[in-house]
Amino acid sequence: MSAREGGCACGAVRYRLASDPLFVHCCHCLNCQRQTGSAFVINLLIEADRVELLAGDPQPVDVPRDDGTVQSIFRCPACQVAVFSTYSHPAVWFIRGGTLDEPASVAPDVHIYTRTRLPWVEIPGSQPAFEVYYDQRALWPAASRERLARLTA
Ligand SMILES: [Zn+2]
Ligand SMILES: [Zn+2]
Repeated sequence: MSAREGGCACGAVRYRLASDPLFVHCCHCLNCQRQTGSAFVINLLIEADRVELLAGDPQPVDVPRDDGTVQSIFRCPACQVAVFSTYSHPAVWFIRGGTLDEPASVAPDVHIYTRTRLPWVEIPGSQPAFEVYYDQRALWPAASRERLARLTA
């Protein structure tokens, strides 16, 4: 067990992150609330090639979003727990923070879509929060911006 390992509920899917994530989102949008059945989702954004699949073969399920787009949510074929998802950029995976062996090892770098935040969720003043989205260039550390640039080059 390490802070950078995780997996599904049944253990068929196991992964290890080869480095720190690019950035960590806490998303309060209604899509994420519906998908998780909860108040928000924790997403660790990381390059696909920095996720080592140690076991299992997560299968994509295309899930409609309110804006008409489709999000691919990758699930354990056995227990169906969602382990990660992709949006417009297939090479950036959004690892679901709750699937880490040690979920407390990460904290959000930013809260987004707080306009639909449930009223009893309080956001720490130390964590940036935005009604909708944010400017990656302004918030991401230089090293993460360089990693993303390498990916899209
Ligand atoms: Zn499973
Ligand atoms: Zn969301």
